[in-house]
Order: sequence, then C-alpha cells, then structure tokens
Amino acid sequence: MREGSPIGPVRRALKNTCPNCGEGSLFSSWLRMAPSCSSCNFDFSELDAGDGPASFLVLIYGALIVPLAFLLEVLASPPLWLQALLWGVVMLIATMKSLRPLKALIIGWQFRIHDPDKKYF
Ligand SMILES: [Zn+2]
Repeated sequence: MREGSPIGPVRRALKNTCPNCGEGSLFSSWLRMAPSCSSCNFDFSELDAGDGPASFLVLIYGALIVPLAFLLEVLASPPLWLQALLWGVVMLIATMKSLRPLKALIIGWQFRIHDPDKKYF
C-alpha cells in the first residue's frame, strides 16, 4: 500500500490516518490513539507523543497571548476579570483546535524516524 502512496507518513498522520498505510484511522476518539490500524494492523503502541503536544502549545500560545494581554492592558485597561475571561477562552479554543493536529504531526515524525522499513531515510 505504501509504495503506491504519493504522500509521506507526516501528511498521512495530519489527515488523521495511519502513517503506515494512510487508510486506517489514527485516533479512536478525539485525542486517544487507536491501538492499531484498522486497515493494515500496524501497531501504534510504539508511537507515543506523550506530553509533547501540550508542552509545545503552552510555549507557543504563551509567547503569543501574554504580549497580547499586555498590549490590551496598555491600550484599553479592561477589568482583570475580563482579561482573564477573554484570554482563558482564547487559550481554550486555540488549544482545542490545535492539540489533535499537533499530536498527529508528532506521531507522523516519530513514525518517519522509527520507520520499520526505513523507506523514509
Ligand atoms: Zn495502516
């Protein structure tokens, strides 16, 4: 299956499909990985993003949102409760939108590095 596929494992993972064959689902729920591919039976147990996606998002969104909060404070001085509500909601939505794609990206990179057939080196 992989020989005929023009896309690599990272793109397959970003499409939430198995990085090995690109057909089975990578996730069994929103963030939980399936134990294995439903199409090619590739075992996903060796692919684990761990806390990597959440750690990256804390760093990325922290670097983006803290300056924006300071800028809003300087320009408009809204009440503290409004700042907390606004940036809390922004952080929650941004994190919910990007956690799964980032996890899939890291899984795709891991598969590429640990590719059992070494086709992507
Ligand atoms: Zn598969």
